[in-house]
Amino acid sequence: MIGTDAKVFVAGHRGMVGSAIVRALLARSVHPVTISRGECDLTDREAVDTFFARERPTHVFLAAAKVGGILANDTQGADFIRENLMIQTNVIDAAYRLGAQKLLFLGSSCIYPKHAEQPMREDCLLTGPLEPTNLPYAIAKIAGATMCDAYRRQYGFDAFTVMPSNVYGIGDNFDPQASHVVAGLMRRFHEAKLKAEPEVVAWGSGSPMRELVDADDLADACVFLMENYSEGGLINAGTSQEISIKALTELMAEVTGYEGRITWDLSKPDGTPRKIMENSRLHALGWQPKTTIRAGLEKMYAWFQETDGKRPAA
Ligand code: GDP
Repeated sequence: MIGTDAKVFVAGHRGMVGSAIVRALLARSVHPVTISRGECDLTDREAVDTFFARERPTHVFLAAAKVGGILANDTQGADFIRENLMIQTNVIDAAYRLGAQKLLFLGSSCIYPKHAEQPMREDCLLTGPLEPTNLPYAIAKIAGATMCDAYRRQYGFDAFTVMPSNVYGIGDNFDPQASHVVAGLMRRFHEAKLKAEPEVVAWGSGSPMRELVDADDLADACVFLMENYSEGGLINAGTSQEISIKALTELMAEVTGYEGRITWDLSKPDGTPRKIMENSRLHALGWQPKTTIRAGLEKMYAWFQETDGKRPAA
C-alpha cells in the first residue's frame, strides 16, 4: 500500500495518463505532488534535481513523455528521441539519488518488435526489428525500461516499467496532426456531424488491429502495481479488448451520432498490423479492466463535448 507517510510525485500530471493517475490517487485519498513545466522543465537536469531535493518524493509515477500518433512520430523523430531520453534519464536518476523508494515508468506497446508474436509477451522485447514510423520514440522508451532494470540490478532501486496498450480517454490530445487514432477520429466525426458533411476520411486501410485501454483503467492498473508489484523488467497493462480500425470507425460514428460515409486515405500509413498484449501476469496479480471500449468512448466523448478537448491549465 502507498502509506500515509508516502510522498507521491506524478511526473506528467497534465497528460492523459498522468492526469488519470492523479485522479486515481485522489480517489484513494492520496494527494500527489505535481509540478508545472514552467516551474520545472523535466528535460533540465538541474531543475529536476532541485525539485527532488526540495520535495523528496518517495513514490514516483513517471508519466511525463513526448507522445504522439503515427504522423507526429513519423515526422518529428528527433524531438521524440531527445525529449524522452532527457526526461526519463533526469527523473529516474534523480529519484534514485535523492532517496525515492519506488518508481513506475510508463513504457508503450510500440516498443515491442513490429512482427512480434501476438498477443505480445513481456519477453518479446528486443527480439526483432521495430516499427519504423515510431522508431526514435521506441528506442527512447526501451532505454528508459533498460535504465530501470539496470538501476535495480546495480543499485537495488525498485524501478519497473508498465506497458500500456493504445491508451485513449479523458485528457487525450485532439490535435489533428499529433493525435492517436481514437482522439483523431472522435474530433473528425464530431465536426463532420456538426457540419453535416457527407463523408469522414480515416487513415490507412482500416485493417490494423489495436488493443485499447481507457486512461482511467490504465491509471488504476498503475496505482495497483505501485502497491503490489516490485519486480524488474516489464509488465503489460492491457485489457485484451481488441478492435480493428474499421470497426472502431463504425463504433465512433455510433457514439458521436454521425450518419455519413466513411472512406479510407490509403496514402497514410497503417503502422503495425496488429498490436495486442498478453496480459496474464497483471491479471494473475488480481487486476482487471472495468471499462468496455464503447463505455470508454462514450465517457471520452462526453468530456470532449464539455471541454472541446482542452485540458485544464496546469
Ligand atoms: P499506432 O498504434 O502507433 O499505429 O498509432 P495511431 O493510434 O496513431 O494509429 C493507429 C492506426 O489507426 C493506424 O493504422 C492509423 O493509420 C489508423 N488511423 C485511422 N484514422 C486515423 C486518424 O485519424 N488518426 C490516427 N492517428 N490514426 C488513424
